[in-house]
Parts: sequence; structure tokens; C-alpha cells
Amino acid sequence: MRVLVTGGAGFLGSHLCERFISEGDEVIAMDNLLTGDVRNFAHLQDNPRFSFIQHDVSRFIEVDGELDAILHFASPASPIDYLNYPIQTLKVGALGTHNTLGLAKQKNARYLLASTSEIYGDPLVHPQPETYVGNVDTIGPRGVYDEAKRFAESMVMAYHRTHDLDTRIVRIFNTYGPRMRLDDGRVVPNFIGQALRGQELTIYGDGSQTRSFQYVDDLIEGVYRLLHADYHLPVNIGNPSEMSILQFAQFVNEITENAAGITYVDERIKGDPQTRQPDIARARELLGWQPRVDLEHGLQRTIDYFRELV
Ligand code: UDP
Repeated sequence: MRVLVTGGAGFLGSHLCERFISEGDEVIAMDNLLTGDVRNFAHLQDNPRFSFIQHDVSRFIEVDGELDAILHFASPASPIDYLNYPIQTLKVGALGTHNTLGLAKQKNARYLLASTSEIYGDPLVHPQPETYVGNVDTIGPRGVYDEAKRFAESMVMAYHRTHDLDTRIVRIFNTYGPRMRLDDGRVVPNFIGQALRGQELTIYGDGSQTRSFQYVDDLIEGVYRLLHADYHLPVNIGNPSEMSILQFAQFVNEITENAAGITYVDERIKGDPQTRQPDIARARELLGWQPRVDLEHGLQRTIDYFRELV
């Protein structure tokens, strides 16, 4: 296959490029490097089946030659990033999705959208199945990301229904692993960075809010299987093992042997979901997929990666 990965210099995008390369495919990574980093694919650059185009997919996209698949992973994705770049976030979710869909139609390529658990907002149904329509504040601080991704899903389904485009939608739940940016503001790099520096871990609010953390390899496997399955409605890919942010902080301190403890700070962003846990029945049934890497092993690999950077 000849595959275009937008956001190919990002955390998830670069892992995805790596997977296609290891499967023997040809990969074009596209990224405007707003939040991505070319160091994430430095190890692929000598491979003749890999190439990189620096381009903002919110603008018209041109790619020479045939394409078999387009995976649209470009977007700021951490709350700090999309608060810093609200308009770029809206544009890449809306215009970037439109442009990549147009390219897929022109090339007759299969299309996969990276959507998100954020489309469920601060959920009133728990855990969240794909049939839950969500609870999002359109004008809240997270609305720029949540609504862009909701619009993107609608656009993908419109191309599927109107142009018979061969599309997929993956709803990605909290994912962590090597190549996250240490300063992206998310809880995993924040806590690991603080723990490795021997600092207190900063819990926003009272720490009772929950998340379910998935290791990046599990996500990539799920995305790869979905791309090769014949299914067009959204599929949740995430790890259902849910914990409170307080429990997560204690766990990070335990495995890093950080004696500095925790501190409570008032930095919760309005609309920060109180709970989040994927219902993965659909992925299990359709893809025979389930997470394989437990939190301890996944965190250990992530800590090893961050240790070099702190
Ligand atoms: N959080 C925290 N301390 C931090 C960073 C984040 O307590 O240093 C909390 C944040 O308020 C949220 C959860 O951890 O409830 C997950 O935040 P993250 O930014 O990783 O992603 P989200 O799941 O909110 O998109």
C-alpha cells in the first residue's frame, strides 16, 4: 500500500508511520510541525519507502502518484495545545478533514479519521459506547477540539454516504507512550516529568476525576485492524481499566519511587470530563481487538523514554 499519514510527525502519527513501514508499505508523512517534531520519525528517514512533506493540511493538498489509504491524524491534541492554538485546531478538524477527504476521493483511497473520546464531552453515560451522542459545551474552552472532531465525523460520514468513499472513524481514548512531548501538558508527561525530577505531582482539582489509559502500541494495533476491516461507523479504541487521577498519581510515584508526594492545584480547565471509560464491545467483536499492555509495563517504557529527556 501507499499510505498518507497526516500528523505524521506527531506522537500517534509517527508510531503509525512506523507500523506501516514495518508491514512493507510505502508511507508519506505530512505535518506542518505546529506540535509535531521531525525527531519522531528520524529513525525512518533513511528508509526509501518513507518520505515527509511539510504542509498544513488546512490548505489545499497535492500529492503526486497513487494513494491507497489516507489516515488523518493531524491536530493539536492536548488540552494545553488546543487552548494555545484554538483556531488552528478548528481549522485542521474542519478544513483539514475536508481537504483530506477530497484527496481520498480524487485518489480513490481508503480514509481513516482519528476522532476522539472528547466527542463525548463530559459524559452523562458511563462507560461510553459508540451510540452515546455526547455532552459538549460548544463555546467552552475544549469546544474548539471537541466540535472540530464532531464536525470531522459528520464530514466523513457525508463523504461515505454521498460519494461512497471507503471510510473509517476511530474514537481514540487517552493514549500514552514514548514520543509524547514532555511539555504537552497532559497528565502522563506532566506526572512522569515531575516524578523524575523528584517534584510533587500536580493534581488538578480533587483528583476524583477518572481516566482510562491506553498504551500506544495497543492503539496502533486497533487502528491498523480497523483500517483493514469493512466497517464505517465509529469504533472506540481505548483501555477500559479506569482509575481516578489521584490513584494514577499515587501509582506514578510508587513506580518511580518519588517520595515528593502530591499537591492539589486549581488548574482544572472548564468542562474537564469527570469520568471517561471506553466501552470496547464493538472493537472486540469486529476486530477481535483488546488492549494487551497493562499500565505498569506501559508506564515503565514511557518512563524509560522520558528519563532521557528530563
Ligand atoms: N491533570 C492533572 N494534573 C496535570 C495534568 C492533568 O490532574 O498535571 C488532570 C486533568 O485535569 C484531567 C486529567 O488529568 O482531569 C487528564 O488530563 P489530560 O490533559 O491528560 O487529558 P484529557 O483526558 O483531559 O484530555
